[in-house]
Amino acid sequence: MSGAPPLRRVRVAVEAPQHSGLTGPLDYLGSQDLTPGTLVHVTLGRRDVMGLVWDDLPGGQDLPEGEPLPESELRPVGEALDALPPLSDRWRRLVDFAAGYYQRSIGELALAVLPPQLRDLDGRQLQARLKKLEKAEAAAAKAAAEAPAATSPRPALTAQQQAALDAILALAAREAPPPALLWGLTGSGKTEIYLRAAEDALARGQQVLVLVPEINLTPQLEARFAERFAGHAIVSLHSALTPAQRLRHWLAAHLGRAQLVLGTRLAVFASLPRLGLIVVDEEHDPSYKQQDGARYSARDLAVYRGHLEKVPVVLGSATPSLESWQHALGGRYQRIDLTERIGGGALPRVRLFDMNRLERKKGVTTALSVPLLDALRQRLERGEQSLVFLNRRGYAPVLHCDQCNWKSDCPHCSAHQVFHKEDRTLRCHHCGVSTRVPRACPSCGNPDIAPLGRGTERLEEQLAQALPGARVARIDADTTRLKGSLESQLAAVHEGEVDILVGTQMVAKGHDFRRITLVAAVNPDGALFSSDFRAPERLFSLLMQAGGRAGRDAAQAGSSEMWIQTWYPEHALYQALRKHDYEAFAGSQLHERMSANLPPFAHLALVRAEGRSVEAARDFLTAAQEAAQALPLSLGLLLYPPVPMAVARVADVERFQMLIEAGSRAQLQRFLRAWLPELHALKRRQKGLTRWAVDVDPLAI
Ligand code: ADP
Ligand code: ZN
Ligand code: ZN
Repeated sequence: MSGAPPLRRVRVAVEAPQHSGLTGPLDYLGSQDLTPGTLVHVTLGRRDVMGLVWDDLPGGQDLPEGEPLPESELRPVGEALDALPPLSDRWRRLVDFAAGYYQRSIGELALAVLPPQLRDLDGRQLQARLKKLEKAEAAAAKAAAEAPAATSPRPALTAQQQAALDAILALAAREAPPPALLWGLTGSGKTEIYLRAAEDALARGQQVLVLVPEINLTPQLEARFAERFAGHAIVSLHSALTPAQRLRHWLAAHLGRAQLVLGTRLAVFASLPRLGLIVVDEEHDPSYKQQDGARYSARDLAVYRGHLEKVPVVLGSATPSLESWQHALGGRYQRIDLTERIGGGALPRVRLFDMNRLERKKGVTTALSVPLLDALRQRLERGEQSLVFLNRRGYAPVLHCDQCNWKSDCPHCSAHQVFHKEDRTLRCHHCGVSTRVPRACPSCGNPDIAPLGRGTERLEEQLAQALPGARVARIDADTTRLKGSLESQLAAVHEGEVDILVGTQMVAKGHDFRRITLVAAVNPDGALFSSDFRAPERLFSLLMQAGGRAGRDAAQAGSSEMWIQTWYPEHALYQALRKHDYEAFAGSQLHERMSANLPPFAHLALVRAEGRSVEAARDFLTAAQEAAQALPLSLGLLLYPPVPMAVARVADVERFQMLIEAGSRAQLQRFLRAWLPELHALKRRQKGLTRWAVDVDPLAI
């Protein structure tokens, strides 16, 4: 025996951030039998870091190859965590694609999407974890065998649901199924379809991945799956888990023991050896897009993963993203429609109240209209609940002195500090700075400074004043800061302890309120004229979703209403909403997008720069633009000049952005790959530039 097996050159993906300029896996010396996908300890500089044995994948990225180091200069691979089955080729291809598409390094992305605790383990600790997991699972299996849980009875599907399910099962039987877009109103029984499709996959011994947009919504859905699939192993994956839980759940999925994985966007990277179905609920939701680091879209990656693994992907929504809708129109996605609400519940009648009819009083132009108050009063008398929706928290967005025109501006941001009456503070919602409310105008001493405009806190107060005796409650980011407080506040609504619920978009999504018969949006107009071309799309889906909260009980559906207070009742968006006509809305939006050459008819990337001065941020992007123009690959692309972001200064940092528009994804990708290395070089030369980042397919412009 000669001892250790011979060594060879192995490639290892390590967590070297994009900005260090390293993009590909690095070379080390390792033993012959190291399987790609194995986690190993390696040294990077002077640090011991976790890496992942990588190899060239068929169809993978072409990485820029530097001059390879001679073997004599390579460092050896450290300990391998080989008690863990290697991450599969398919998993690595997903990561490889995502890293390439979103312009990050493979190692950075690969390590970032693994459970953080995994990175800190050595072989012995990992063995201990695995043993513990096995024990816990054995105990759970024993308990389940002794007291078999009763599975809840399944409702008989409606004819429409049956047709939808059949269509999905037919896709599942295909060699390379195209994604399905399940388009159905709230309450039309989409979740039931997910459950049935999951049942089918489980029966074939496969694993199912279900993505939801918000952590808040996972317990609800988890309960529904747990009830249906009692006795099956279900785990959740989201960022609110403790590191230990996250590792445990991830391992259960990776080892193939978890049959169902429910999670938020990061779960799209779960390692699932027997994946058979992916569901993306509320596929249009912006929170599927990661907003820092690798800015990936979990929805888009789910579609790519389905394509890689040849499994069906079900994208569900009442108001699909225009990207998905366009794919369905073009035949790339198969559209499956659910047009009826279960139990025949009608959608709420939409009433547009024209604010121009209100008498204008000084300062207050967005009061509650008399007819809306009457409608609320009616609900109170009948013992029904109402939801009043305003997407702005705090008491008032700004304090104002009408003597000298002082406004409560944030000293660190180009934004106002918001007045919070409850604790008498002025708070900046951008940088978080908080100060006491001054007794008098800090500029002229006028004691009479007044709040301008209205947030949820003030709305709550106004409603309580206008409707004495009503039990008004508020749910927004301020009232739900403490762990568990959202759950207890929602429970109070469900228990009927609340007559009128005031809230931000937090309450508009997903929650199944049974007794609400009136939903009102008191000031939704802002989005109509936003500089962000996606604002109308978001507003429409939010209002549809908020409206879907009303009349979920068929018995009350007949009397349910949605009120919109607007200055523009004739606007096409509201007119489509009035008829619950997503199709008309999508059609008109797509038409506008096509004539303006915007997504889904063009492909965008955004480069953002942050600097200690306006010049630092702007000059960096100007130089970046010049570098882009010098590249032949930029021919045919539209390079917009650098502009300040909508809120240009946050926490004393100046922020600029530059938009790139391309006719095809491939063209954009080729260009970015050639251009970004130049930006890394520019960053080193640009004094005062703190950060820059690229966002491919940005959601907010
Ligand atoms: P969505 O996900 O589209 O909002 P759900 O699947 O949650 O719709 O269905 C709405 C309600 O109707 C739920 O309470 C669900 O349990 C119930 N439901 C769904 N399908 C049926 C059916 N075929 N028969 C009876 N009740 C059903
Ligand atoms: Zn003043
Ligand atoms: Zn601020």
